[in-house]
Amino acid sequence: MAQIIDGTLVASLTRQKAAALVERAKAAGVEPGLSVVLVGDNPASQSYVRMKERDCAEVGIRSLDFRRPATITQQELNDIIDQNNADPSVHGILVQLPLPEGFDEEAALDRVSAEKDVDGLHPENLGKLVRGVMAARACTPWGVMAMLDHYGIDPAGKRAVVIGRSSIVGKPMALMLLERNATVMVCHSRTADLASVCREADILVAAVGRPKMVTAEFVKPGAVVIDVGMNRTEEGMVGDVDFADVEPVASWITPVPGGVGPMTRAMLVLNTAQAAARLAGVEV
Ligand code: NDP
Repeated sequence: MAQIIDGTLVASLTRQKAAALVERAKAAGVEPGLSVVLVGDNPASQSYVRMKERDCAEVGIRSLDFRRPATITQQELNDIIDQNNADPSVHGILVQLPLPEGFDEEAALDRVSAEKDVDGLHPENLGKLVRGVMAARACTPWGVMAMLDHYGIDPAGKRAVVIGRSSIVGKPMALMLLERNATVMVCHSRTADLASVCREADILVAAVGRPKMVTAEFVKPGAVVIDVGMNRTEEGMVGDVDFADVEPVASWITPVPGGVGPMTRAMLVLNTAQAAARLAGVEV
């Protein structure tokens, strides 16, 4: 049976690290602040935003709430982002995705200044990742790396397969594993014979959005299996991995819930604390 990678535990340790940075930033005269921009009334987004604001409160980050109806225009959204870019008391800006239909998400993400991009999705920060320069990094894959590190799972020399090539998860995940000297393959909807490609993986990351797609047939015995998927189904929140089927084959596995999800939130808080600490001249 696989050992469980406990995202709730590692997230809590990450928040402690963020809280220590917040303390040091405050001692240097900077009170970290995060602005959360939520457009529309998507219930999942509302619940994520609530949890993120609670996380901020726990580590001492002041959060400002910008909730607007789906009827606002892109220009009005731009104005909110500009206002926060210019506000020196704001160190991080989070535009909750997905934006309602009709909004240009990339334009919104590009508008957030790179220094305040605590989601790590600004082209400048993604570009720094390509170059191997440290800056705010995409929260979900960065959270996966933190979990691997916590459990002493070193990607160096291993074969890693990432299923999914989004800019939010799959591509930055592949780059982070590559940076840590894994040999990386990225799969997607056009990959031929997906299961046999995945069976080559020592580390398999599923970021697809298809409930329980990854079964034991996809998994090499002893592989580390990371399930990024969060699919709301009739049986509740389900990952992209069929946990019951894969657990007997893998060496390590993340559960859903309690795996990658809490880490994504924790890395947002850490990115915000680091953005403020940099401004305060505190070493991060
Ligand atoms: P996207 O929809 O942007 O990307 C999905 C990727 O999966 C695409 O690259 C797509 O390929 C690929 N794909 C789809 N179907 C198949 C298939 N049958 N076989 C192989 N590849 C396939 O999703 P995201 O990257 O944003 O999210 C992925 C999952 O992770 C979702 O469940 C999402 O909810 C979850 N998520 C979880 C987070 C967390 O905190 N735990 C944070 C962010 C996301 P192609 O490019 O060819 O279309």
